[in-house]
Amino acid sequence: MNRKGILIVVSGFSGVGKGTLMKCLTERYGHYALSISATTRPPRKGEEDGREYFFKTKEEFEQLIKEERLIEYACYCGNYYGTPCDYVEDQMEQGRDVILEIELQGALKVRQKYPEALLLFVMPPDAQTLLSRLQTRGTETEDVIRARLERAVEESQDVEKYDYMIINDDLEQSVEKLHSLIESQHYKMSRNLDFVRQIRKEIKELAKGE
Ligand code: 5GP
Repeated sequence: MNRKGILIVVSGFSGVGKGTLMKCLTERYGHYALSISATTRPPRKGEEDGREYFFKTKEEFEQLIKEERLIEYACYCGNYYGTPCDYVEDQMEQGRDVILEIELQGALKVRQKYPEALLLFVMPPDAQTLLSRLQTRGTETEDVIRARLERAVEESQDVEKYDYMIINDDLEQSVEKLHSLIESQHYKMSRNLDFVRQIRKEIKELAKGE
């Protein structure tokens, strides 16, 4: 039986540790395909074009929008972020589980386009931990941290629209929880209707003595 690829959206407040979580998950389980987004945000220290993001100018990004080459895009704290179509569609066709690590507005657009997508939200154990993580990361200025916290307040209003939440307390446990949540989706009846129809037909034929 061919296993169909699942489209998984992972969101979470800035600083919650989604990046580390995704890195561990994809390194441990080789069958996941992590989509690389395009953004107009400048690279952080250590980030490389084509690895963390495809870094674009505003004009280049707007060209991608115009040419309809993005599944979704959103403006987040003054920068554009978007998911290129090609990779996602290609990987899904090959039966791989594709992960999009994107913010809430984009997640909701994905849900409209792909109603079967699995939407997961990563939570911090508490608000203070979120702030400490944002500060100790040391990649953002105070102003950017403030803007991201304000955005987290807005995002927190809509988290019920996601299917599941994971509290990122212990990295190891969070990776395992994420993996088993995704894995369980493969067994949903609604994702296996081709198999159901086939077995129904076979049993019927068997019962008739064919
Ligand atoms: P950061 O600047 O910290 O890398 O990302 C800021 C936010 O943008 C995060 O919440 C991240 O998940 C989100 N993001 C990254 N790529 C995309 C994308 O392609 N589309 C959307 N809508 N959000 C994205």
